[in-house]
Amino acid sequence: MRIRYLPETLINQIAAGEVVERPSAAIKELIENAIDANARSVDVAIEHGGKSRIVISDDGDGMSAQELEAALDRHATSKLPGDDLLNIAHLGFRGEALASIAAVARVNIQTHERDTDEGWEISCEAGRKSAVRPSSHPKGTRIEVRDLFYSTPARLKFQKSERAEYAAVKDIVMRLAMAYPQVGFRLSHDGQQKLHLPAVLEQQARLAAVLGREFGENAMEITAQRDGVVLSGFAGLPTYHKGSAQHQYLFVNGRAVRDKLLHGCVRAAYADVLHRERHPVLALFLDLPPTEVDVNVHPAKAEVRFRDAQLIRSMMIGALKTAIYEGGFQASNTVAMQTLASFRPAGEAANAGPALPLRRGTGAAVPASYARSYAPLGLAEAQFQAYRPQQGQGALALQDAPSVRVQEAVVVDETLQDHPLGAPAAHIHENYVIAQTREGIVIVDAHAAHERLVYERFKTQMAERGIEKQGLLTPEIVEMEDTQVEKLLEQADALSRLGLEIEPFGAGAVAVQSVPALLGSRINTKRLVFDIVDELSDMENTQVLEEKLNHILSTMACHGSVRSGRKLNGDEMNALLREMESTPLSGQCNHGRPTYVSLSLKDIEKLFGRT
Ligand code: ADP
Ligand code: MG
Repeated sequence: MRIRYLPETLINQIAAGEVVERPSAAIKELIENAIDANARSVDVAIEHGGKSRIVISDDGDGMSAQELEAALDRHATSKLPGDDLLNIAHLGFRGEALASIAAVARVNIQTHERDTDEGWEISCEAGRKSAVRPSSHPKGTRIEVRDLFYSTPARLKFQKSERAEYAAVKDIVMRLAMAYPQVGFRLSHDGQQKLHLPAVLEQQARLAAVLGREFGENAMEITAQRDGVVLSGFAGLPTYHKGSAQHQYLFVNGRAVRDKLLHGCVRAAYADVLHRERHPVLALFLDLPPTEVDVNVHPAKAEVRFRDAQLIRSMMIGALKTAIYEGGFQASNTVAMQTLASFRPAGEAANAGPALPLRRGTGAAVPASYARSYAPLGLAEAQFQAYRPQQGQGALALQDAPSVRVQEAVVVDETLQDHPLGAPAAHIHENYVIAQTREGIVIVDAHAAHERLVYERFKTQMAERGIEKQGLLTPEIVEMEDTQVEKLLEQADALSRLGLEIEPFGAGAVAVQSVPALLGSRINTKRLVFDIVDELSDMENTQVLEEKLNHILSTMACHGSVRSGRKLNGDEMNALLREMESTPLSGQCNHGRPTYVSLSLKDIEKLFGRT
């Protein structure tokens, strides 16, 4: 065996595996080059998901003949003038993107250096460069990449479908567009224009253009600043969530990153208000001195290392939590929109037109199972049938119908109307409270709301004097498997602090001595204990203690909110509404479902075709 130095082309092909492992990665590098060259507009045109052809044109600074010749060489870059890896001011700096792409594709570059009258052109096939020749290219730089990976058949085989590649390209363009609002972007696929984002001054305008109006209407502004680190952006209300974390756009110094630390912060901040399988939508920008962050830890620079990770962590979580708590009383407006849509006959909702800002089918913000909980409030077809006169009875039958006795006349105390959640009017279907506000009506899911209120009271008690216990007159013996007994007893101390005292009770059983007083005496202790066992087995060891305790409290709160079917009277309804208003996060239950929906008179008028 002999050691030998690899030829340059092979080295570049190997590097290409990391830097441009797929068309979207190559496109990311090329757009970043355009941005680094001060482009004000970037046009991306691709064919077959970028596999057969990519053309990127910019109106940036361009290159001289000499620069063009060097640009395709490995480790040739204009971006590290002071050789200082600790002070990186551009998106690129490794000088390997063009060399890598050129090693595995057919590349043609035309360029025109700003403030000169010269244009230049070069071609390269599988690493073999042509001479630089004059060109009539008028402005900026145009790079064409054909047949990516044609010279590395093994890699070619592993390419994904055109559709998957196109989706990845679109994602990349969107991410870069969010970070650079002053740059205009266009994307076309197989001759069809897919994105057109004109340059704008404000980030907010760009985010609205990229993420859609629905996000704009359901997002909270995030700002924080500490020790030279600036956090800005927008984060979705807790009730506006998706099934994956894909819609979390995070940027560090203008670089789109997928960073474990940052995604972890988002998770931690929303842990209290979202089910673990739901994810908020957000776009957040961290800007910090280049010396505070190492961007050179990943070939595609998608991960970063912070010098002071703790600072970043506490800042992110703090800013998000503050916004969530302040905005927590609001439920997202998509909830009302979905409710409205579900009131309408199915056929109409699809083309409701401008009356309904929520376009159906564009990634509904509230999952179907959540929306379903509102169904009983719309007059379902079956219920509607029930009110019609029976066959053969005709109109007269209506008059003959037994008179209906209204149990309680609805008396609305109008002085309460000015409260955000209004004056209570009725408690129906053993759950929903209907209230009247100045502008319309509010429908409260009393179970969900109560669950959140109990949880928040738990957290307050916990912070102030510990959870209050209520001893059981006779201990409740709960039988279970030995492993479950073990799990519970391991946590006996922590659980005792939460008001749940558990003691060993021979083989395969525990004795419950007390439960949290807030839950009242009617709870099903056995079910509570089993739910906690499940919760304990699900927990990851890495979760911090506070997060674990909060999960258990939230599980307990669910039990506390299972009410008797008794009707709430006016005072009780009023107390519920007022407590919701004064409780942080009361806009959603512990799983991120909304606790109330408000419909304005305008919405209601629309419903009846009055406008
Ligand atoms: P890096 O971006 O890390 O410097 P690249 O291989 O991506 O490495 O690019 C090499 C060099 O080519 C850049 O440093 C820059 O000088 C030049 N270059 C590449 N693309 C453009 C462009 N669109 N406009 C002007 N110069 C460019
Ligand atoms: Mg580059």
